[in-house]
Order: sequence, then structure tokens, then C-alpha cells
Amino acid sequence: MAEKKRLKDLTFWDKIYIPAILNGLALTFKNLLGPKFTLKYPEEKFIPSGSYRGSPVLVVEKNGVERCVACGLCSRVCPALAIEVQAAETENEKERYPEKFEINMLRCIYCGFCEEVCPEEAILMSKEYELAFDNREDGIYGKDKLLKPVEELKDRIEFLRRYK
Ligand code: SF4
Ligand code: SF4
Repeated sequence: MAEKKRLKDLTFWDKIYIPAILNGLALTFKNLLGPKFTLKYPEEKFIPSGSYRGSPVLVVEKNGVERCVACGLCSRVCPALAIEVQAAETENEKERYPEKFEINMLRCIYCGFCEEVCPEEAILMSKEYELAFDNREDGIYGKDKLLKPVEELKDRIEFLRRYK
């Protein structure tokens, strides 16, 4: 079998490794003095941008009306079967609202499909990432935990309107 030829033979300096070690150390010291990206969590909190996909929440308008019309699309598209919606009628213009809306956060995989499919921009991925539970029941979020004012979600709404 023919001997494979090196593309380039090592020079004397390559062979003693010292320039490579010095280059590596220079890079290390450069990064020591540069900006730091690690946070001392939980004392220092990470504040995500609008592109972040934290736990899904439901939007409440400024006048207190829920955006959700209980169409059930989010529940149907959810790959983790984490959403349960029960519709009821209302006197409002929208006619329907979710009498019951639950998301099982133990199942949710933060895929964002529910947000993508919602025709009313009523379910959005929030910036919330601190989810810890003592028992399984606490991981099922009802409307009391899911409903969030539209002002709290403006970063996400702006991001979606620009990039979706
Ligand atoms: S983010 Fe994905 S997994 Fe979580 S509730 Fe929405 S569709 Fe289901
Ligand atoms: S959150 Fe959106 S997709 Fe889900 S039931 Fe309400 S209106 Fe329909």
C-alpha cells in the first residue's frame, strides 16, 4: 500500500509546541480580561430577550378581557398533550372564552407550537424559566397562574410581529 504523504511537514517550532502553548495562554488571558457572560444565579437573574421561549402563558387585554376564544387549536397541536381547554359562552363580542384552561408544565417541552397556531395571539411563550414543584399537582397551571397582562408580554409580541 502506498505511503500517505503529509500535506505539510512540521517545522521545528511546530515540533516543540512552545508557540502553540503561548498562543493558547494568550487567548486565555485575553478572555480573562474580557466581558464575562456567566451570572451568579440565583442572586443575579438572567433577563431574557423577546426571542426567549419560557413557559407558555395566556394574554389578558388592558380592559381585563382574555384574548383566548377557546378554539382548542393549541390543545390539538400540542405534541406533549399538555393543554386542556373547556369552552363556555360569553356575552362579549368574542362569544366564547375558556371556562377552564390548564397547561401541565411537567409535560410542556416549550416547543412554542401552541403560540404559533393561535389565531388570536392569546397564548405566548413568556420569559419565565423558574419552574420548580414539590408535587405533581403544582405543575398543572390553571388560569390563575397562566393569565398575564398584555403589557408584561410586549417584548414577545414585538418579536413575533417582526420575525414570525
Ligand atoms: S409549548 Fe409546546 S409542549 Fe408546551 S404547551 Fe405549547 S405546544 Fe404544548
Ligand atoms: S390559546 Fe389560542 S389556540 Fe388556544 S384555545 Fe385559546 S384562542 Fe385557541
